[in-house]
Amino acid sequence: MLEILKKTLKAGSQTTKYPQIPDEAPEGFRGKPQLFPDRCTYCGECAAVCPPNVIWLTEERGEKTLTLSYCGCIFCGRCEEVCQSGAVKLTQEYELASKTKEDLLTSIRRKL
Ligand code: SF4
Ligand code: SF4
Repeated sequence: MLEILKKTLKAGSQTTKYPQIPDEAPEGFRGKPQLFPDRCTYCGECAAVCPPNVIWLTEERGEKTLTLSYCGCIFCGRCEEVCQSGAVKLTQEYELASKTKEDLLTSIRRKL
């Protein structure tokens, strides 16, 4: 028993210190998509190709709004692939825990 304890102490910790120390996602990781309002043309292409339909474009009171819900996003990257303006990019961010669905919505808007 003492030998096992000695070996264990000698080996040290084999796991990361997350969440106390943030873990970086590996290269090529497809995380939380980010919208860039200054680049968006509100063409709706991303919404048209999103498999789980978690992006939608609305037009109301002289304003176009593009909304993305992280709730249901499968991180496929189709939105980024089709966007000609580079207005949606998948990031390395993976922390998406939330208490409400509303907190998982992000929107950008432009006056018509
Ligand atoms: S994010 Fe790109 S594809 Fe989506 S509406 Fe904006 S410009 Fe069009
Ligand atoms: S990554 Fe895929 S599922 Fe998520 S918003 Fe983009 S197209 Fe939709």
